[in-house]
Amino acid sequence: MQLNSLGFPRIGRRRELKFALEKYWRGESTQAELHEVAKELRRTHWQWQVAAGIEQVPVGDFAFYDQVLTLSATLNAIPDRHRGEGAIDLDTLFRVARGRAPTGTDAPASEMTKYFNTNYHYLVPELKQDQVFSIAYEQFFDEVAEAQALGYQAKPVLLGPVSYLYLAKTVGQDFDKLSLLPNLLKAYADILARFAAQGVTWVQLEEPILALELTADWQAAISEAYQALKTAQVKILLTSYYGSISHHQALVSALPVAGLHLDLVTAPEQLALFANALRADQILSAGVVNGRNVWAAEVDLIVERIGSVARDLGARLWIGSSCSLLHSPVDLEVETTLAPTLRQQLAFAKQKLLELANVRQLLQAPESVAAKEIVNTCLARREAKAQAADAKVIARVAALTQADYERVSEFTERQAVQQRKYRLPLLPTTTIGSFPQTPAIRGLRSRWRKGELSDAQYTEQLQQVTRDTIDRQLKLGIDVLVHGEAERNDMVEYFGEQLEGVGFTKNGWVQSYGSRCVKPPLIYGDVSRPKAMTVDWAVFAQSLTDKPVKGMLTGPVTILHWSFAREDISRDTIATQLALAIRDEVVDLQNAGIGIIQIDEPAFREGLPLKQSEWQAYLDWAVNAFKLSAAGVVDETQIHTHMCYSEFNDTIAAIAAMDADVITIETSRSRMELLNAFEDFEYPNEIGPGVYDIHSPNTPSVEAMVHLIEKAAQKVPVRQLWVNPDCGLKTRTWDEVEPALKNMVDATRELRRRLG
Ligand code: GLN
Ligand code: ZN
Repeated sequence: MQLNSLGFPRIGRRRELKFALEKYWRGESTQAELHEVAKELRRTHWQWQVAAGIEQVPVGDFAFYDQVLTLSATLNAIPDRHRGEGAIDLDTLFRVARGRAPTGTDAPASEMTKYFNTNYHYLVPELKQDQVFSIAYEQFFDEVAEAQALGYQAKPVLLGPVSYLYLAKTVGQDFDKLSLLPNLLKAYADILARFAAQGVTWVQLEEPILALELTADWQAAISEAYQALKTAQVKILLTSYYGSISHHQALVSALPVAGLHLDLVTAPEQLALFANALRADQILSAGVVNGRNVWAAEVDLIVERIGSVARDLGARLWIGSSCSLLHSPVDLEVETTLAPTLRQQLAFAKQKLLELANVRQLLQAPESVAAKEIVNTCLARREAKAQAADAKVIARVAALTQADYERVSEFTERQAVQQRKYRLPLLPTTTIGSFPQTPAIRGLRSRWRKGELSDAQYTEQLQQVTRDTIDRQLKLGIDVLVHGEAERNDMVEYFGEQLEGVGFTKNGWVQSYGSRCVKPPLIYGDVSRPKAMTVDWAVFAQSLTDKPVKGMLTGPVTILHWSFAREDISRDTIATQLALAIRDEVVDLQNAGIGIIQIDEPAFREGLPLKQSEWQAYLDWAVNAFKLSAAGVVDETQIHTHMCYSEFNDTIAAIAAMDADVITIETSRSRMELLNAFEDFEYPNEIGPGVYDIHSPNTPSVEAMVHLIEKAAQKVPVRQLWVNPDCGLKTRTWDEVEPALKNMVDATRELRRRLG
């Protein structure tokens, strides 16, 4: 019974790769030095895996920027604007990722987008109609040789041909991507032949698109691909992850591959189905340890679930992580200051390797002393968790009734009350929340964290910043102000730090893209809000002006999606607990005299399941969580929400069901195209479509914004419209923001004259 590691995080337990990359990009180190760091990381990570009992080390999981980009280079699929004269090398990859031409001038980077439903971003391959694939970059093969030289058995891991094509985009004239498949398969056959020549036995070819609902042509492509690769002199481990592939069972079970990997964490029920259909010459890799969380596995329960299949299959069953460990932080051992109660619940990538070994131990020697210890640890951990439950929170969730989710009156009635109260002009202007996080502000925070500034000094300095932010908005003539979020480092962390049941690590980093890592909060217990989190700042800002200042909160769905959330209760329940905490804050803000409160939900759409058939169930609970957070207020309190760039066409009914009085969205990049959804659906509440693309340093002109507002007014009745930027302004400078907002206010005034 082999242990199967699908891939290990590459960044290093102290983010060594990040620092080495950034040093190299700044021109402060040589490529040879960068390679040294990379080689050392691979060596360490392979060593850990072998020490845990992994027989074949994954190779190809290491990438300097992104493994999909490495694959594109291997296949000679590099955009012309980044390519350069000579052969593809590491600098070519960095040019694709970072937007440089070989001459050193700017050339737009390849697009980056989320890898399925993870927070990892890959570089979207750009394919032309006359694309010819051929091996053009040696990294995979070099690393196979490197692992072998260290005495390890190498198992190359790479995205399979059909998923690769699926994730790619076409450039130039429009054409069917699948027309490139035959040529792509030749290149894959060449790659597999190279591996075979190196003495490789198994190759992990990943087809994560199998978790999607595929059209007939893509299903056919899967068959075609694996029929074509059947003659390869290596064994193919067809690998799925992130969801059930049961709906493709007949297709998958008929493929001529030597092994199949299933994600049994997201979809345990697949096991019996595929085990029954397994041919005698095939192996099944059971992905039982979650590769994308931080929680210790319930090894005893896993063994209960797979025990009978394990007995049937014997050595034909492998024990694996559900997916690559790429999405987990690297090593719990470097967390030296965690509370023991939290620590015992955790397992990072390195610890997950041991869990694989523990599963095997329990399966093979259930009576051994070691096995008993493993079971006892699991029992003790569950017992401790049960002890730590917060009965008050649980009771509060249980006692919720439909009325808790609904505002007192319908929107039109609220709108009338709010209009009388705020007397806002036609096309009210506002911003999304944050104003520039200047180096001065970041300096204050770091000095305060180091203890060089007292709490009182820090607060006073930030009050100064807030006063300045309010002054500037007043001068600009904005109607609904914000306090600017100077006190917040991050919109989720700021709240996480103040909530019960949410914890933080020091080094729990996971790669988001390139050298960029994030350190998500850990929602490990029942969530509650011990005391007000934002009221002081909101009240202070409101005391500076008679104009309304929006209270600013992060919504429950976004906090959930941008955290590692516990898995012993449903996400729906966690969202409900978070919603109650935010609701308490909303009510406190209202009672402190804050009349307009924004609850941001930029990650709302991110939570959509991979399969469209499962969307509605998600939307139902996510909408409910938002409503619960917002509905504790009286009619005259105006609730706003904000979402970043999202495709609204297919979720507009849910967006309307959230029943926010005002929603601000990102629309300027799409030139208001996104508003078609709001037009066709007749969205009932008020909307602020962004007219200023905050991702660009450019100042939008008055005319451009007049044009966008007019365009919006063709799609949404003008009485429903607000005018605002696309998103928060924290990444911009005041030099950029002030002229842009001045133009935004001028554009609005111009339109008020015309339309009023
Ligand atoms: N209020 C937040 C800000 O302005 C919203 C950020 C976001 O949408 N991601 O920064
Ligand atoms: Zn946004």
